[in-house]
Amino acid sequence: MKGKNCLAVLAKRAFLIFLLIFISGCTLQTEEQITENGAVLSGGESSDGLDSGFGETPPQNGSQVVPAQNGVSGNSSETSGGADLQAQSDPAPNGVFESGSETSGGAGSQAQSNPPEIDYQKVKPYEVGRITVIMYHGVVDAEEAPDKYTRTVEEFKADLQTLYDEGFRLVSMRDYLDNNIKIEAGKSPVVLTFDDGLRTSFSLVKNEDGILVPRPDCAVDLINKFAELHPDFGKTAAFFINRDPFAGDASLAQSFAYLVENGYEIGNHTASHAAMDELDALQLQAEIGEVEKIIRENAPKGYECVALTYPFGIRPKEEFHSFALSGEFEGIKYNYAAAFREGQSVSPSAPNRNGFDVLNLPRVRGSDNEETDLGWTLRSFRDNPDLKYVSDGDPNKISVPEVYAENIDYASVSGKEVVVYELSG
Ligand SMILES: [Zn+2]
Repeated sequence: MKGKNCLAVLAKRAFLIFLLIFISGCTLQTEEQITENGAVLSGGESSDGLDSGFGETPPQNGSQVVPAQNGVSGNSSETSGGADLQAQSDPAPNGVFESGSETSGGAGSQAQSNPPEIDYQKVKPYEVGRITVIMYHGVVDAEEAPDKYTRTVEEFKADLQTLYDEGFRLVSMRDYLDNNIKIEAGKSPVVLTFDDGLRTSFSLVKNEDGILVPRPDCAVDLINKFAELHPDFGKTAAFFINRDPFAGDASLAQSFAYLVENGYEIGNHTASHAAMDELDALQLQAEIGEVEKIIRENAPKGYECVALTYPFGIRPKEEFHSFALSGEFEGIKYNYAAAFREGQSVSPSAPNRNGFDVLNLPRVRGSDNEETDLGWTLRSFRDNPDLKYVSDGDPNKISVPEVYAENIDYASVSGKEVVVYELSG
């Protein structure tokens, strides 16, 4: 506890210094148009400008240093596993550290919330760095002539292998949005999303014994098989559906049950795959509410959809934009944590990062033929590994190197401890 208090004091001091610099008009640029490797971002699906969300600018002022010992502070905080997304919007007082939430559990639970201490200089955690959310559609056979939206089975398997080999680990949409990243220290989270509810992403078919199983070589089947060989990769993905998803031999309830029981998630992609900029408030709520209703009526009891993806990457008109996240249709209210675009965007991809915009979260297309897609993104991480989110192994802590401390959105941090550490050399 002592270590943590000391850290909190230092951190508070650093934040005040930062605040002073900020107030005195010294502009610390937090986002830039150009990536560190010199590439200017372009592309992305929707017409509005993209790009900044990609730069990291170390502060010009060295005074915000918060020294952190390796393996800082015994952590007594405890998160409720599925911490509600609401938690994020509870501002912490004055951007000051929340040093852990109250411990309500007994001694037993404390033990399991203490992950092994890490060597910060080796692991270099950066928990407001870039998180890759990949947008896939179908996973097809090679002869089905894939376009830029589809992946062949072999390409998809290769993606999983590359991600695994390069230190990425699967996290669920919910955990991503909660910054509740429960992966090994030194690894980076990645979120897989599949739009349109295509049968090649998931459907259940009867095998020879009449048992419903994932269609061979659909995305779920491939992820399941990969996870069997590499259990530490994780096994999850989010499927964003329209009405009538997952053509196959199963009922909707059976399909949803399979997904939820096996760690997958169901998201909203509007009932008719609507171009949302053409809709008014009522139409938007009808498009979104219908899918919410389908999920509520068919998914296992208590399942909560947490996000929406914009069809075609097209967002609603500005005045109706909030209906992407909350509204009501036929007596059913929906309230989502985030809405995702198609392609990179102006918005950073990490929760608790300045500028994180839940209405405009970026995704990268699951392909390798143009700027900003998955292949391009992985290459840019190889060139600039310090840009990506690297986990400290403890979902209760947000660890960030001092040089990037300015990226932390302290006001959004709730119930977690922020650790700002100095990198030596
Ligand atoms: Zn779509």
